[in-house]
Amino acid sequence: AKAQGRNTLCFFDPQMQATASARSLLEADLRQALARSEFLVHYQRLVDADNRVLGAEALVRWQHPQRGLVPPMEFIGLAEQTGLILPLGRAVLRSACEQLARWAAHAASAHWTVSVNVSAHEFRHPGFVEQVLAILQETGAQPALLKLELTESLLLHDVEDCIAKMQVLRSRGVGFSLDDFGTGYSSLTYLKRLPLDQLKIDQSFVRDVLTDPNDAAIACTIVTLAQSLGLDVVAEGVETEGQRQFLLNNGCRCFQGYLFGRPGPAEALLQP
Ligand code: C2E
Ligand code: CA
Ligand code: CA
Ligand code: CA
Repeated sequence: AKAQGRNTLCFFDPQMQATASARSLLEADLRQALARSEFLVHYQRLVDADNRVLGAEALVRWQHPQRGLVPPMEFIGLAEQTGLILPLGRAVLRSACEQLARWAAHAASAHWTVSVNVSAHEFRHPGFVEQVLAILQETGAQPALLKLELTESLLLHDVEDCIAKMQVLRSRGVGFSLDDFGTGYSSLTYLKRLPLDQLKIDQSFVRDVLTDPNDAAIACTIVTLAQSLGLDVVAEGVETEGQRQFLLNNGCRCFQGYLFGRPGPAEALLQP
């Protein structure tokens, strides 16, 4: 009885109570936001060694009626836990593919790619592949201009199933990028087996690349690794010309970060 008493006390910890009700409020809010289409997609450019636009990463935002523009860190986790990431992810992918189709209509942007983040819950969902193919078809977007960004932790779970799904989409031309590379637990042996097109050097290695020799060594190793595996490599979170120059000198040819542009409405990409 005493032990139970402790458990009960623990269960009714006011801190936890507050957290639990804040979460259920947020969950209800998220459901309503989906119904009201309060989510919008911002785009951040990826550029080549000459600062020319190669494409953009789609980054979701929540246009909250009271709170304003809410960043993904504040709702993606809960959307994953509640399964709401499925309709949300579909909406983002659809919007990104519609954007691709619009870019395709103008010569200057016809070759631009769009990268879309895919969460573990979405990718493991049995209907994922069919969903992506259906959205490509409905929007008329060119599959070869779509890149799906996956993370290492997602791919560690049931590697065979992941490879099978990736192969189907890849056979239609869809590309795959490994996001936040270096922060997970990738074993190099299966990195070789995954049908990837691109590695993204996590911004945590780029931030201090000029001052921290370990970060510099890791960033350079990822560039070399990508080259030897025949993959493209993108440095994320590039904020200064110094960081860009260092990465460029060490073989990186594709960049993303505030130095080139913050995430914003798709139209902003047309401005230099
Ligand atoms: P991520 O995929 O690693 O995306 C890059 C994040 O870095 C973005 O944050 C971007 O705004 C930020 N960033 C870009 N350049 C710089 C820079 O130079 N310096 C710094 N400090 N940050 C930079 P954001 O938009 O807040 O997104 C955070 C995370 O939320 C994303 O990280 C991604 O994991 C997740 N996310 C965003 N949109 C979606 C989505 O549609 N679906 C899913 N499943 N996850 C998403
Ligand atoms: Ca990403
Ligand atoms: Ca990233
Ligand atoms: Ca990240």
